Amino acid sequence: MFFPAHCAGCGRSVSGDEPLCPTCSGSIEKIRPPRCEVCSQPYRGDAPAFTCPNCHGEDFHFECAVAVVRSSGVVREMVHRLKYGKELWLARILAGWMREGLDDPRLKHWKPDALVPVPLHARRLREREFNQAEILCSELSRTSGLRVYLPLERCRYTTTQTQLDRKGRRQNLRDAFIPGKNRDVTNMNLLLVDDVLTTGSTLDACAAALLEAGARSVRALTAARG
Ligand SMILES: [Zn+2]
Ligand SMILES: [Zn+2]
Repeated sequence: MFFPAHCAGCGRSVSGDEPLCPTCSGSIEKIRPPRCEVCSQPYRGDAPAFTCPNCHGEDFHFECAVAVVRSSGVVREMVHRLKYGKELWLARILAGWMREGLDDPRLKHWKPDALVPVPLHARRLREREFNQAEILCSELSRTSGLRVYLPLERCRYTTTQTQLDRKGRRQNLRDAFIPGKNRDVTNMNLLLVDDVLTTGSTLDACAAALLEAGARSVRALTAARG
């Protein structure tokens, strides 16, 4: 794989090895503290311990979900082009931000035994031809040395969740993920990987299934945060 001499965001020619032109690069919103310790939602002010509205009243099964960039503008477009436009080469750039995420204090001193992509249902996989979370895992594995493990299966074909409220989404996802046969996760620390964190419902359902199957702890890392 190599980068063409064009900006991955806007297609303008770029010099050197940078994947993005200065304009696109400068438009990317990095998530910096203060942000919610659990879901990485940034907030204004200096409250040291803060439960953001997304996490309020939630008891997520993952300990935290880390993302270093916001899913907006050029980032949102790149995720979309990877997923629906089959521009798999973009995974390398998105995984670059995930690699930065591994240095987040919430992940740096916690040694995951493996990267676990959020699985797609077999039917969705046939439609899309690839699982973007798995592609991101492979890229991250290459740069971090962490191995990829696929202990989960998505056994229910869930329809689009955008029309559902939080409770509806949870209901919709309940029992959607099951541990695969001969996929032992006992006592493992697992880092769940997905393209974007929005409400956290999908990551939560995966984390619940992994803990139920005996995992010691589950944290999450996404390429971007909605
Ligand atoms: Zn650009
Ligand atoms: Zn939060």
